Amino acid sequence: MEASIMDGPKRRCGAVSGLTTVKNPISLARLVMDKTPHSYLGFAGAEEFARKQGVELVDNEYFITEDNVGMLKLAKEANSILFDYRIPTLTTCGGSAAMENQLQMNGLPISLYAPETVGCVVVDKQGHCAAATSTGGLVNKMTGRIGDSPLIGSGTYASDLVAVSCTGEGEAIIRSTLAREVAAVMEYKGLNLHEAVDYVIKTRLDEGKAGLIAVSKNGEVACGFNTTGMFRGCATEDGFMEVGVW
Ligand code: ASP
Repeated sequence: MEASIMDGPKRRCGAVSGLTTVKNPISLARLVMDKTPHSYLGFAGAEEFARKQGVELVDNEYFITEDNVGMLKLAKEANSILFDYRIPTLTTCGGSAAMENQLQMNGLPISLYAPETVGCVVVDKQGHCAAATSTGGLVNKMTGRIGDSPLIGSGTYASDLVAVSCTGEGEAIIRSTLAREVAAVMEYKGLNLHEAVDYVIKTRLDEGKAGLIAVSKNGEVACGFNTTGMFRGCATEDGFMEVGVW
């Protein structure tokens, strides 16, 4: 598992990779930000830091579920690397059977992001933005593979203008430094949040690869994706709530 967090106005950040026993990787990312002189800890060093900080640790068995074992088996049989999709629920959440067929590749479900990567972007009353992303990565990834989620600027980024969290094929997100790109076009081209998200998804990202959620310091909320769908939700202090998939 891996995760990262960034506090926009102060440009502070923390990230972790290669975790196998930390129950909530995002809490460890925050401790890296708050309690170390570094930005990013990985593998044995990150686990050691977790033990020293007393964060909740679990046996690795805790993360092994029947569903995940099944997905891994399918991915290995297909010699494929998968996002962790649960498309069998497609028809039950509003998609048609025809859509479900289109979403198959090698007989496996593809192209919907991503029940087990969790991203969060927030803005407070003062317009301070922050972003965080946590993931188990891709099913059947190589040992040692690091995705976009812990990489500041790729899967996660926050500045004094905006906070962004991405999901999808990490390699595509890394190539386009997707999260930072949204902030950059706002900063350098003067685009508003919606324009920036549209521009970046259309011009920077390989087709069908990923999506992102974003908030601006003015309290605007945007999401953009070039996949078939992306699970997302939005909540405001005054009780407004909205969820979406397509
Ligand atoms: N972006 C994640 C990764 O490539 C996967 C995902 O978002 O589902 O590790």
